[in-house]
Amino acid sequence: MSSIFVWWIGEEEVDHELMEHVRLHLAAAFGRPVFLWDSPERPRHAYDEKRKQYRTTPILGWLGEAGPGAGKVLGVTDADLFIPILTYVFGEAQLGGGAAVVSLKRLLDPAGGRAQLVERLAKEAVHEVGHAFGLVHCGHEHCVMSRSPAVREVDAKGVDLCGECRGHLEELAGGA
Ligand SMILES: [Zn+2]
Ligand SMILES: [Zn+2]
Repeated sequence: MSSIFVWWIGEEEVDHELMEHVRLHLAAAFGRPVFLWDSPERPRHAYDEKRKQYRTTPILGWLGEAGPGAGKVLGVTDADLFIPILTYVFGEAQLGGGAAVVSLKRLLDPAGGRAQLVERLAKEAVHEVGHAFGLVHCGHEHCVMSRSPAVREVDAKGVDLCGECRGHLEELAGGA
């Protein structure tokens, strides 16, 4: 059974408690070993000078090369992420691939406090890793795999996979 690795790739100091929350949520959602991975390397080549943001595609490729080299690797960053057609994204993943990335940047709301940030990050982490396992967007609004382009949708959905997505995940991942 392949493992999941969570790697802080932000510029600020790593927030160990936050990473541990992500680790536990991933372990609960996917029922497999989740480890925190650490290395000082950062995907700085993904920075776009004009937009002052980081492009997700090169980060995903880099995570595959610089990461643990096995299982799924989720990069967690404080940098602002984008794909060319959108102003920003909370995260991105290689559908059915090895890498996923999520950012705290647009999930932070000073008024919402820490509990809200932890909750939002956990949902987006499970969502992107779900994509890495091959899950696509789900029509059930409370399912963690439902689309969430804005924090309103993130807050409205749950942190769990619905029964249907759970079934798909078993088919997709099997014992692999
Ligand atoms: Zn998605
Ligand atoms: Zn679902």
